Amino acid sequence: EAPNSKEMMGVFHEELDIYDEDRLTLLTHLREALDQEQLVLYYQPKLNVNSNQVVGMEALVRWIHPTRGLIPPDEFIPLAEESGLINQLTLWAIDRAIVDMNSIKQAAYSGTVSINVSARDISKMSFVEDVKKILNRHSVAAESIYLELTETAAMEDPKVSIASLTALAEMGVNISVDDFGTGYSSLSYLQRLPAKEVKLDRSLIGEIRSSDSAAIIVKASINMAQALGYAIVAEGVEDEETREYLKEYNCDTYQGFLTCRPLPLDDIRKWLNKNYS
Ligand code: C2E
Ligand code: CA
Ligand code: CA
Ligand code: CA
Repeated sequence: EAPNSKEMMGVFHEELDIYDEDRLTLLTHLREALDQEQLVLYYQPKLNVNSNQVVGMEALVRWIHPTRGLIPPDEFIPLAEESGLINQLTLWAIDRAIVDMNSIKQAAYSGTVSINVSARDISKMSFVEDVKKILNRHSVAAESIYLELTETAAMEDPKVSIASLTALAEMGVNISVDDFGTGYSSLSYLQRLPAKEVKLDRSLIGEIRSSDSAAIIVKASINMAQALGYAIVAEGVEDEETREYLKEYNCDTYQGFLTCRPLPLDDIRKWLNKNYS
């Protein structure tokens, strides 16, 4: 039998064993969480910069752990990605988001929803069929969902990823490029993706007020992306002054704590009723 990693590392790395065990336990619990409805989607509205009309919602997953309480996605999505559990998680999220948004659809909100997907989702062509099945099951138009992914995710396995994204886009699904302005994101690579929308990362947006160069980068990114035909979303807008800059730059839409934090479905329903009826 091949030595396992514990044996290879020897007795001097006991703390790594604990770490490994912890991750394994976490993964087991995450699997159970997905089966037992401990994962919930919170929603954050996407708004028109000028009118504050709701043009969509982004679904953001949280784990309501029975003993540890609310666990943010950054603490378990990477584990779901490494283990492959992400495929099941993403399909669950798409399904749930459609059901949830249908239940709060009203005059002020059309039911359009954005779901975050990972490299591992789009690197399988079967994902396209899986998404189609969900849309059919709920008789929902492909145009009413946005799938958000980073450029890095699309680059991990570009051949298959671009093929599956193209198939999704041809179906009518909106492709959205997340976290633009971080990492290796570039407008020239962007052109290879069948994207409708580009989301400017909140690290850039948060600096508009304090940094002239950040403001220039945001303004130029908006102009270039719009000239290339993409819709623009500014993420992480936390104050009115930043929204004013975005108006000036002709940015289309925004999300941020300024107007609404991500909230559970019931609270989003209340928020819509309070502000838009
Ligand atoms: P993201 O897709 O870039 O989501 C935006 C994050 O910014 C969310 O964090 C949101 O709560 C936060 N945010 C929104 N407005 C503001 C603001 O005004 N100020 C600040 N400081 N933050 C703001 P969250 O919900 O913790 O999600 C973190 C990341 O986890 C997401 O980043 C996304 O990459 C990932 N994630 C969340 N849900 C899912 C999911 O269902 N599937 C996958 N694959 N990833 C997900
Ligand atoms: Ca996102
Ligand atoms: Ca983002
Ligand atoms: Ca992110």
